[in-house]
Amino acid sequence: MSDAELAEYEALLQFLYIAPIGIAQTEPDGTIVMANPLCAQLMMPLTHNGELDNLFDALEDIAPDLRQRVHDFKDAQGMICDAHHLRIDRKADDDDARILSLSLLKLDHSRLMAVLSDVTESVRREHELRQNQVWMSTITSGITEYTMMTLDHRGRIRAWNPSIGRLTGFAADVTDGATYDLFHADGALPAHRLHDRLREADIDGWSLDEGWRRRADGSRFWGSCLIAPLDDRLEVPSTERAYSLILRDITDRREANEAMRRSVLCDHLTGLSNRRAFFEAGEREIQRWKRTPLPLSLVLIDADHFKRINDAHGHLAGDAVLRHLSAGMSATFRTTDLVARVGGEEFAVLLPGTSLDGARIVAERLCQRVAANRVEVDGVQIQYTVSAGVATMEAGIDTLEALYRRADVALYAAKAAGRNRVERWSEEMAPAAPAAAHG
Ligand code: GH3
Ligand code: MG
Ligand code: MG
Repeated sequence: MSDAELAEYEALLQFLYIAPIGIAQTEPDGTIVMANPLCAQLMMPLTHNGELDNLFDALEDIAPDLRQRVHDFKDAQGMICDAHHLRIDRKADDDDARILSLSLLKLDHSRLMAVLSDVTESVRREHELRQNQVWMSTITSGITEYTMMTLDHRGRIRAWNPSIGRLTGFAADVTDGATYDLFHADGALPAHRLHDRLREADIDGWSLDEGWRRRADGSRFWGSCLIAPLDDRLEVPSTERAYSLILRDITDRREANEAMRRSVLCDHLTGLSNRRAFFEAGEREIQRWKRTPLPLSLVLIDADHFKRINDAHGHLAGDAVLRHLSAGMSATFRTTDLVARVGGEEFAVLLPGTSLDGARIVAERLCQRVAANRVEVDGVQIQYTVSAGVATMEAGIDTLEALYRRADVALYAAKAAGRNRVERWSEEMAPAAPAAAHG
């Protein structure tokens, strides 16, 4: 060997010695000519007599067909087997079986090169990874109530799970690249608002909203939409940010909540708002009035001599009259007016944007309407009338209680003046009668 060849040979030996993989050179019959330390280490436990002379013998238990494969390989050179996994069970059913990877290369007619490595860990990790992928895809494709997607920095949909079709009816080709306002009624989520939501997610880590969403067929569902940044580092350039979006159909839950809300805030006999709903909503109107003092008036209505109706026709007939009256009220007042049953035969109507005179006119219309009609209960015609008191928010008062007290004073005046009439509150009226305080 020349010096140069010797140096090259030395370098090769050195490489083989430190290589992190087992390397062996053999003759065509498997006789080992050279094996590096790692190769010896990997194969030694497999030998029966502790002698490492022949590759095929050493691997006999775990790769019995190796000799045959080599024999069958007719090309002058090439890969006989490539990263073939060989499982070494220490005992039957061994959970910590080790796995060797074997590649066998025919260098020429007289030399084989074997490369061995222990891949137990990476196989285990790969297995785990696959397991996780199966889990994820089971979860993401199996749930129909949710759909998940990823959005790019402009809110365009880039990836989605299969439930998107079930939940929204949109086919994948429509969804791809569309901004997620696709799920809102036209114009309901303008571009700047969409942008705001992404910014909110950047800053707070998430952005959540609920509202009507639309499906491909135009039908709507009550959706909850959570947007979270995929990368929580604000340093990521804004054009490279991406977001995950989880859209849920919570129509059922909303309906349950609505039913609950209705049962708490509705009057069972008439279906109108109840006393509690009236004072809650009334309080909000007063707060609004304080910020922007637009006209805000109140009408209190009380059925006249209702006791007599009950006495004459029975309580059930009285109930029918109360339902008739509430229907008449709903028909008379605007939908923006808050009509409530606040007591037995007492009703309150809050009229935003309506002046004292405006409220009086509507109340009079109701009075006339009631007086002109009859209720038929079990073939009996019942006639009844109502009285009303009207007051409005103005200088001198700034609470719902004060407004209510004034309307009550006016109502008392209407009763005193003979019933079946409407009175407006005025300075000259006596202070409130002890009636109709509220809680
Ligand atoms: P006024 O003209 O002064 O208002 O006389 P009124 O008889 O209507 O007044 P009062 O307050 O003395 O009586 C109200 C009656 O309303 C007494 C009560 O039996 C009846 N009432 C209260 N709630 C209901 C109800 O839910 N159904 C029925 N049928 N009657 C009710
Ligand atoms: Mg009463
Ligand atoms: Mg009454």
